Amino acid sequence: MTEKIIEVTRLSKKYENLIAVNSISFDIKKGEMFGIVGPDGAGKSTIIKILSCLLPFDEGKGSIFGLDISSNQKKIKKRIGYLSQHFSLYGDLTVDENIEFFAEINNIKMFEERKNKLLDFTKLTEFRKRFAENLSGGMKQKLALICTLIHTPEVLLLDEPTTGVDPVSRRDFWKILQELLKTGMTIVVTTPYLDEAERCNRIALLDNGRIMALDSLEKLKFLIESRIYEVICSEIRSAFNILKSKPFVTEIQAFGDRLNVAVSPDNENASGKIRENLQENKINIIEINEISPSLENIFIHLLTTKNNEQ
Ligand code: ADP
Repeated sequence: MTEKIIEVTRLSKKYENLIAVNSISFDIKKGEMFGIVGPDGAGKSTIIKILSCLLPFDEGKGSIFGLDISSNQKKIKKRIGYLSQHFSLYGDLTVDENIEFFAEINNIKMFEERKNKLLDFTKLTEFRKRFAENLSGGMKQKLALICTLIHTPEVLLLDEPTTGVDPVSRRDFWKILQELLKTGMTIVVTTPYLDEAERCNRIALLDNGRIMALDSLEKLKFLIESRIYEVICSEIRSAFNILKSKPFVTEIQAFGDRLNVAVSPDNENASGKIRENLQENKINIIEINEISPSLENIFIHLLTTKNNEQ
């Protein structure tokens, strides 16, 4: 059986009257990429800070490497790397000097080889003499990651590492994470981007400090019983209103230039019915395709079901 590297049981954290994390439990296995996903204010940063031994909590317990997080902070911190959204690099130091600085504060003596390897790995070697303040947003994020990795942590805790970074750099950053995973590292990453989270081995969907669902993407898809059709057409708003009221439609979501229309699985010829209804209303259809549910579909479905139950 794969070793559990992180264990959290009924963990809660309050800020005055606000319950930021509400009795959450999960395990993370060695070598896993575990995603914590949720909107702003869901409690993602709070969980990562607690796991990084930077924030006390009120109830429950947690352990990393079998060590209790409330009494082994020093030992744990040596073996983890924490990268926050607000990681501060020194703008007036070069790339090399920033890495050297973080190696020194972590008491790492022989870091030259590791530094070169990490620069090479993140494709920053040619920029090593550049001042950090002159790097692009994506490069700064990579440099921050190198500084977090210089002491060779076994577990990497990343809090929204790609928020505000351009899409190409976001993709590069995730490629680097996949490479790190191959070295046996365990990665816990929070993100508000659902498309990014789909790359994780398992995903916890967080809302209001509670885990709504936790599983691999493949298994989370079973939470949606309906079949989903993606409709690309003219006048998305009107198409949305037309289809919303039809009895064969169980749920409908609009995403920019497309609609995702959920219908119950026993519905015969759903795509034909969608087409018919739109054509009757003179909507120009570009495409209708059945699609596999995305994490976005699952998340909205869970939120809608929860709100309807309240
Ligand atoms: P996320 O990372 O998902 O955006 P956070 O963990 O930052 O969520 O915050 C969870 C909730 O706790 C939010 O409602 C936030 O406003 C609140 N919160 C976070 N930090 C503090 C703090 N230091 N004092 C008071 N409330 C806080």
